[in-house]
Amino acid sequence: MTRSRRGPVLVALVAVVATACAGLLAGCAARPADASLSHTTLSPASLAAVRSLLDARAHAVRDRDEQAWRATLEDLQATTSALVAEFALLSALPWARFDYADVRPTGGGADLGVTVTCVSRLTGERADTRTEEHFTLVRRASGWRIAGHRATPTLSAPWWSAGARATRGQHAVVVGAIDADTATWYAHQADAAVEAAARAWPTSPFPAPLVVIVASSTAEAAALLDRSVDRLDQVAAVTEGPVGPDGRATADRVVLNPQGLDRLSDEGRRFVLVHEAVHVLLRSALTGSAPAWLVEGFADTVAYAPTGLPPERIAAAALADVRANGAPAHLPTAVDFDGRTARLDLSYQRSWVLVSLLEETYGADAVRQLIERATTTAAAPDVEAAGARAVEEVLGTSVPELTSAWQRRLLALAAAGSAPG
Ligand SMILES: [Zn+2]
Repeated sequence: MTRSRRGPVLVALVAVVATACAGLLAGCAARPADASLSHTTLSPASLAAVRSLLDARAHAVRDRDEQAWRATLEDLQATTSALVAEFALLSALPWARFDYADVRPTGGGADLGVTVTCVSRLTGERADTRTEEHFTLVRRASGWRIAGHRATPTLSAPWWSAGARATRGQHAVVVGAIDADTATWYAHQADAAVEAAARAWPTSPFPAPLVVIVASSTAEAAALLDRSVDRLDQVAAVTEGPVGPDGRATADRVVLNPQGLDRLSDEGRRFVLVHEAVHVLLRSALTGSAPAWLVEGFADTVAYAPTGLPPERIAAAALADVRANGAPAHLPTAVDFDGRTARLDLSYQRSWVLVSLLEETYGADAVRQLIERATTTAAAPDVEAAGARAVEEVLGTSVPELTSAWQRRLLALAAAGSAPG
């Protein structure tokens, strides 16, 4: 799809929620402690000293103690090294837990290589995340010191992206290789997005903080999300993260895709953050998934509400399509939200028209109740069936009747939008 086909509407390309990576992330926890430790390369005394050094580093992060941090480094006087810069990054994040575990020597000699697992949890998250980190240690008269550190950026630990800074808002953390002003702007907008989502879903607390990753390239966004770049075509942001045993997300991240964001105004970026904040709140509050038209349409109604835009603008592409091809035959399905094969602008706009119609007809409380009732841990094919049952139970109507009402609304909006003057 080309850019010009999307027209001037705020956001024709928004987010697709996915949980594909969740099992992968949760799976990292399975490694038993010190499974690969080789005592032949490190004496028990040295191992204890290395653990003590890493404990001191973890303490320094948790206590935000820069002197203690510097004391773990090879060059105690260093002022500009990457190792010193890491302190500013890590101490900016709100940790509920930050520990090193599972020390595995990976190389001997004058310098010692060790791989460790960083076990961390941001304040408000409901589960620990685990990240592999690699250290180069050198032995000094006073003991082991850290001479090098590297970690692959992941969804759990996006702060290890090259050049990344971490900026805190009141309810949000923004991570990315961006300048301070841009980071502050995103932090403010993310705070406002959390507040908007919380107002729209007042029955559950927001799982603060909202972690927003401003990827520096689509390739970086795709790598963090462990998906192919083509799946991010037409997408400005993705919310993703591990899911706990109870089926609720435990540590979601919002990944912003520069390819999508670059096409948006500031207002469009604010829209994207509110839309994603709604996903984060619902994924944390509810167990499982609801039909895509319902959650995407709801997230869009929350995000569009403060813009005051008329339906003719918000749904411009969908209405143009109605004028050209008539009303669509069925409600948007999961296939219609796959950016590789479907026009996402049509699917999002049709869903927005549908959920707006529901809010108008049945009220906001009924729509929230519908989402709760329609959310299920069932496999994908059964999600639509659960949605259909919820429509009957909560709204007292059926999907065919709902589809007819929606088609009439689309036709009416299309006719109004094409009237002269
Ligand atoms: Zn979405």
